[in-house]
Amino acid sequence: MNFDYDLFVIGAGSGGVRAARMSASHGAKVAVAEEYRVGGTCVIRGCVPKKLFVYASHFAEEFEDAAGFGWTVADAKFDWATLVKNKDAEIDRLNSIYIKNLKASGVEILEGRATVKDAHTVSLGGRDITAKYILVAVGATPFMPQIDGIEHAISSNEAFHIETLPQDIIVVGGGYIAVEFAGIFNGLGVNTTLVYRGEQILRGFDNEVRDHLAAEMTVKGVSIKTESDIAAIAKTTTGFTVTYQDGSTQETGLVMYATGRVPMTQALGLENAGVALGKKGEVKVDARSKTNIDSIYAVGDVTERAQLTPVAIREGAAFAETVFNDNPQEVDHSIIPTAVFSQPPIGTVGMGEEEAGAAGHEIDVYAASFRPMKNTLSGNPEKTLMKLIVDRADDKVLGLHIVGPDSGEMIQAFGVAITMGATKAQFDATIAVHPTAAEELVTFKQPRQKGT
Ligand code: NDP
Repeated sequence: MNFDYDLFVIGAGSGGVRAARMSASHGAKVAVAEEYRVGGTCVIRGCVPKKLFVYASHFAEEFEDAAGFGWTVADAKFDWATLVKNKDAEIDRLNSIYIKNLKASGVEILEGRATVKDAHTVSLGGRDITAKYILVAVGATPFMPQIDGIEHAISSNEAFHIETLPQDIIVVGGGYIAVEFAGIFNGLGVNTTLVYRGEQILRGFDNEVRDHLAAEMTVKGVSIKTESDIAAIAKTTTGFTVTYQDGSTQETGLVMYATGRVPMTQALGLENAGVALGKKGEVKVDARSKTNIDSIYAVGDVTERAQLTPVAIREGAAFAETVFNDNPQEVDHSIIPTAVFSQPPIGTVGMGEEEAGAAGHEIDVYAASFRPMKNTLSGNPEKTLMKLIVDRADDKVLGLHIVGPDSGEMIQAFGVAITMGATKAQFDATIAVHPTAAEELVTFKQPRQKGT
C-alpha cells in the first residue's frame, strides 16, 4: 500500500521533534503536526522559560550575598515586564531554531490539530493523510482539580504570561512545578504560600532531602502549609479569597495550581484505531514505545513513563532507531538523574534512603549538611545537603542526593558514575577537587550511625 508519509508525528515537542528528525535522517518521509508552537512544553512553557525565571529570581539573594564581599549594589530594582519580554524573545528564537532544524532535516511541518482516524490515517484541517507509522507525542497538560472557583486559578501555562506580579500568591501542590514556582515568586518579592495536601513536599524523594528543602525555603520566606487543601476560591474586588478544607480563609492576589499533568489524549481519536489507554488516559506502550496497534507508537509525557524532557528525547531517538534504522532499542528508565530547580536546587539520582530500605537493601548512609564556603563571607544561612546511599552487600552507590547551588550540574556528572554502577570505594579513589562543595561526596569517611 502507498502512504503519503512513512511517519506522521502528532506533536512537535521534545520527543516528537527528536523522533521526526532522526527518522528523516534514516531516509523516512516525515511530517509533524503541531497545534500550538513547535518546541512543545519544555521550550515554550516549561523547562526553558522556568529556568530563566529561576535565574531572574535568584539575583535578589546574590545582591544580598555580594555585600559580604565588599560590594554595594545600589538601589536594585526589578521589572517583571522586562523579564517577560526578554523571555518571550528567547522563546521565539528557540522556536524558530526548532522550525529551522526540522525543515533542514527534511521534515514537513503541518500547523493544526491532527486526530487519529484509523491505524494509518490522521485527519488535519478536514484532510485525510496516510502514513505507514503514526507517532503520538502530544505530551501532557496541567491537571486542575474540580473545586469550586477553580476557573479563577492559573496553571504554569499562564504563569509565564501574567501581566503584573501580585503582592501575594498561593501555589497549590508539592511537586516539581509547585516548589520551583514558589521559589521563583518568593525570590521576586511576592509573599508566597505553598499549600500541600500531604505531610511534606516532594513525595517520593529522599525524606531528608524533602525536609532540608522545606526548611531552606521557609528560611527564605516561603510559607509552607502542609496537610492543607483548598475547598473553594472566590473572586473579590482586589483578588481572591481562598477557603481551606478546615474552613479557614486567606486573601491572596493570585492562586496557581501545580497539581500534576495529565496526558493530552482527549478527543485525539485514538479509540478510532483501537489504541489502548490507561487509567489517566495515557497511551499504553511496550518497551519499544509501540502501542497495541502495530503501526502506532507513542513517546514522552503522553505515555506517563517519566514526565521529563530528556526521557522523551531518548524515547524519540530509540523509536527512530527501532523503526527506521533496523536497530531495535529500549530506553532504560531505571536510573534517571534529575534536578528540581527549587531554591536551593535539588540534584538526585538513584534511590532515596527509604526507597532503598523498602527494596530490601542493607544500606550505609553517608550524609553531610554544611554551609558552603561562599556563605561564610556572605552570611547567607543557606545550608547544603550531600548524601550517599550505599549497598552494604556490594558497596554500590544506590543513590546520590544534593540540595544546594549547582546541584543540577553536579548530578549530571555524578549521574554517569551511578549509571555505570560505581561503588563507594571508587568514589573514595577519586581525588577531590578543592575547594568545592562536591568534594564532600568523595571524602565521606564514616557512615551515619542508626538514629543520628
Ligand atoms: P507532580 O506530579 O510532580 O506533583 C503534583 C503535586 O500535586 C503533588 O504534590 C500532588 O500531591 C499534588 N496533587 C495532585 N492532585 C492534587 C489534588 N487533587 N489536590 C491537591 N494536590 C494535588 O506534578 P507537577 O505538576 O509538579 O509536575 C508535573 C511533572 O512535570 C513532574 O512530575 C515532573 O516529572 C515534570 N517536571 C519536571 C521538572 C524538572 O525536571 N525540573 C520541572 C517541572 C516539571 P501528592 O504528592 O499527595 O500526590
